[in-house]
Amino acid sequence: MERVVSKEEVRQAVLAARREGKRIALIPTMGALHEGHLSLVRAACERADYVAVSIFVNPTQFGPGEDFEAYPRDLEHDMQLLKAEGADLLFTPTTASMYAADAQVEVIPGPLGELWEGAIRPGHFGGVCTVVSKLLNIVQPDLAFFGEKDFQQLTIIKRMVCDLDAAVRVVPCPIIREPDGLALSSRNAYLSPEERRAATALYRALRTAETLALGGERDIALLTDAMRACIAEEPLATLDYAAVVDLATLTEPATLDSPARAIVAVRLGNTRLIDNMQLTTGV
Ligand code: AMP
Repeated sequence: MERVVSKEEVRQAVLAARREGKRIALIPTMGALHEGHLSLVRAACERADYVAVSIFVNPTQFGPGEDFEAYPRDLEHDMQLLKAEGADLLFTPTTASMYAADAQVEVIPGPLGELWEGAIRPGHFGGVCTVVSKLLNIVQPDLAFFGEKDFQQLTIIKRMVCDLDAAVRVVPCPIIREPDGLALSSRNAYLSPEERRAATALYRALRTAETLALGGERDIALLTDAMRACIAEEPLATLDYAAVVDLATLTEPATLDSPARAIVAVRLGNTRLIDNMQLTTGV
């Protein structure tokens, strides 16, 4: 695996691969890699001939007072994992090279970026869209892999690629979980042992909604209340939101007539966790 820092090196490496007729994949990450990230790398290795991974803790998607400084970073370990998976290129740009001091133009996601995570983290999805567009422009992949773990992010990126005619296919990948259901996240490392135990409340809430939906429950308010009740049972957890949303618009339908997504965000101490699950009506 080749590790490069400059945009020019990326372009040369990708150009050489493309000249050999290879299909190029990109997996954007912020590092502190775990099995969730590695599942994206594996999916990319299956579908592409040249797999590029970026590791960049993007400052513009963190708000004031968020965990940008504290965000876990372990490049040596990340490189070992990526080598073992057979990734071809690791791009680790510097902040200065990604954001010129005189840069002015940003990608603004529109209404999808104002909902849920966007309401709690103003500007977050603008930062995500801008950095993802830049990475797509730098690498120019045929395929870009994103996890359903960040369902709102995935939905916004699909919208962005469509609305801005980006020449890339977005490939969604399923959520990888711990045996007790907790979705893998770099932020799980912040949890104390007690918070780690309490964190299973998110999965319980989602499974409760899933079971009700499969049993024929179509009342969104009832499904949402059931999720909230699961979180309320956990004294260490504070609910930010629990909702059932339309897959494309991320707004709340009145009834579950077609597949929708249950989404949940919870605070445990200083750590925010998000998770989601597909809901389909069983009847
Ligand atoms: P991050 O490093 O948190 O920006 O995540 C990079 C990519 O990995 C994003 O597309 C995430 O949605 C994806 N990802 C993170 N955690 C998981 C997980 N548990 N399962 C699947 N994909 C994940």
